[in-house]
Amino acid sequence: MLEILRRVIQEVNAARDLNTALDIIVARVQAAMGTEVCTVYLLNDDRAHYVFMATRGLNADAVGKVTLEVGEGLVGLVGERAEPVNLENASIHPRYHYVSELAEDDYQAFLGVPIIHHRKVLGVIVVQQKQRRRYDDSEEAFLITLSAQLAGVIAHARATGALSITESSDLPASRFAGKAGAPGVAIGTSIVIYPEADLTKVPHRLCQDIDAEITIFRNAVEEAKDDIRRMGQKLSDQLQPEELALFDAYLHMLDDSAISGEVITLIKEGLWSQTALRRVIEAHVATFESMDDIYLRERGSDVRDLGQRVLAKLQSKDEKRRIYSKGTILIADELTPVMLAEVPRAKLAGLVSVKGSGSSHVAILAKAMGIPTVMGVEDLPLHLLEQKPMIVDGFDGVVITYPNKDQLKQYKRIVKEEAAFEQGLESLKGEKSETADGHTIGLWVNTGLMTDVARSLDRGAEGVGLYRTEVHFMMNDRFPTEDEQVAIYRQHLKAFSPLSVTMRTLDIGGDKALSYFPIREENPFLGWRGIRVTLDHPEIFLAQVRAMMRASEGIDAYLRIMLPMVSGTDEVDEAQKLINQCYREITEEGVIVKKPDVGVMIEVPAAVYQARDIVKRVDFLSVGSNDLIQYMLAVDRNNARVADLYQEFHPAVLHALKYVVDAAHSVGKPLGICGEMAGNPSAAILLTAMGFDVLSMNSTNLLTVKWAIRSFEMGRARQMLADVLKMDNAQLIQKTVEDEMCKAGLGKLIRSRQVMH
Ligand code: PEP
Ligand code: MG
Repeated sequence: MLEILRRVIQEVNAARDLNTALDIIVARVQAAMGTEVCTVYLLNDDRAHYVFMATRGLNADAVGKVTLEVGEGLVGLVGERAEPVNLENASIHPRYHYVSELAEDDYQAFLGVPIIHHRKVLGVIVVQQKQRRRYDDSEEAFLITLSAQLAGVIAHARATGALSITESSDLPASRFAGKAGAPGVAIGTSIVIYPEADLTKVPHRLCQDIDAEITIFRNAVEEAKDDIRRMGQKLSDQLQPEELALFDAYLHMLDDSAISGEVITLIKEGLWSQTALRRVIEAHVATFESMDDIYLRERGSDVRDLGQRVLAKLQSKDEKRRIYSKGTILIADELTPVMLAEVPRAKLAGLVSVKGSGSSHVAILAKAMGIPTVMGVEDLPLHLLEQKPMIVDGFDGVVITYPNKDQLKQYKRIVKEEAAFEQGLESLKGEKSETADGHTIGLWVNTGLMTDVARSLDRGAEGVGLYRTEVHFMMNDRFPTEDEQVAIYRQHLKAFSPLSVTMRTLDIGGDKALSYFPIREENPFLGWRGIRVTLDHPEIFLAQVRAMMRASEGIDAYLRIMLPMVSGTDEVDEAQKLINQCYREITEEGVIVKKPDVGVMIEVPAAVYQARDIVKRVDFLSVGSNDLIQYMLAVDRNNARVADLYQEFHPAVLHALKYVVDAAHSVGKPLGICGEMAGNPSAAILLTAMGFDVLSMNSTNLLTVKWAIRSFEMGRARQMLADVLKMDNAQLIQKTVEDEMCKAGLGKLIRSRQVMH
């Protein structure tokens, strides 16, 4: 069963378009289940009709012509119930509806299974038979499994108008839904950025000069062949002759009569050599993988390996630095912070990532840099997006390709309105951050890149609540030395002098990777992260803390050191011991600095309930709500599929925050919050009412939050907090807060709600 499923899915994935794919499905299901009829009905775009899309057994001439009302017949019943309907004698069922064009008069047995993607019914797959009988459990299970697996492929095909990654090269005007990543609208042209040495990620690109491209390809093939010959010679005394023959087979595969010839044919049609190589290799791999013979099927991986080798040679000659023009919209399967650095800021208009969600670290960086971003656009046909006109709507999480005149007009208007709104906030820069009735709260910023500094100061930041030191580590190709770190940290402290700067010790792991220190884990967010890594590598921790302290010498600024991902008191004690050691050492070396305050981030549920024990050991606490929410709600912050469950207003989250506030204040220690929640104006009002001393956020949101806080009276905010803490539902809490915001004249902030945090 599994094998049949695998084969069908593979064939469907390789199909050229949706109709071909559906035709394969009905043919294979009919054969595999030995049934007389198999049909697929899909809901049309207005979701009002099922269209008869493909069949084996019924009248094929009616394909694409016959439609059923959404609630009509047994097909309608399957869709309505969103569960299978299995009948021995369909014609006596009250919902049976006879459609003469389909010629289904004689069929008695009926099994219909819904095709569901992301909770939405896309269509129904039906099998029918003349003989009166119920389809048995295993047949029903087969169809359910197949339908569940195909739903994603069908949804993707409907969104893009295409299925096959090997055949299609153009893209219709489309609208793709993702998750809001960073606010703003970008209108520009897409460029696909892809990780090197990964054939599956090579985008669709055309070449400039066909003859030159063929030469480049031929040279790459020759180099790959030389490598293979050398490998064969090296291993000649360790392998059997029949094993060595494999190397010859590889060399032949790269001949003009095989792979190379096919690639060159595609280059002559105008394709870039890497795109052409990808197409040819994928087609061969698909052919091998659909073979019955296990040995031949495995050969698919040999072909893929050959393709990778040639690709590596092509990429080694690739222009390392591309020239980016103004209005570049950078698109990637998985955007990384390093990719952001690839394009000069003045040229970078927007960002789009197939993977990730609004709480991913790259989205946080994009927000800080003020680049409109859409994350988690799972249906995006990446390989077709090279150099396409595009709109990125970072407010609603939408990407539009080939925008029409009306869309351009509408979005240009939004850009204008946003600019005017921003302009209007400028006047708040010099104003105090206090509520309408005079309660002050610190509005600090989160930083990481040096470019954050100017933006933060320009917007009137009162301190740095989180300096993500790992960003500098991520941009490097080795661990920075202690002296290099001193220079960077000193620049930061100087720029913000005389304000407080909270430097967080290296927080890698999860979705923050160092190219030179790879961490491979099944479950990275529950793995070796933050303080866990640096306590296991005291040499890295000590060098960093020493650098932070040394950097502060002679600067009139207030250094605070903060520890990430703490889950118990032992970690705090151990870290404090190392910090004391650093202070002793640098003092002995003659460096004169005040011992910095040390604080702990509360971002693991265990730390919430140990906040009282932890706070006794340090000078301050700061809630890392990004991680705290993901761990409390068991929602991967990087996974777009569960992004709707990532709720800042979840009652459990609010009660946990209140618990931490009480713990810190019970011993008179200051408490901040530096997750993205602090930058959401609605949440900021609740946090102010809870008693947080500092809200630290990306500088982009600073003035908006200041406006919200200055528009609210503390008494009213506290009453609202008391009310929502009695509620048991995140949506209700959010709505209550937003209604209050509207009453306070802050309705403008609700529209962009999804992305302000
Ligand atoms: C957090 O988890 O809220 C936080 C501020 O840290 P980061 O987003 O860098 O994990
Ligand atoms: Mg964190």
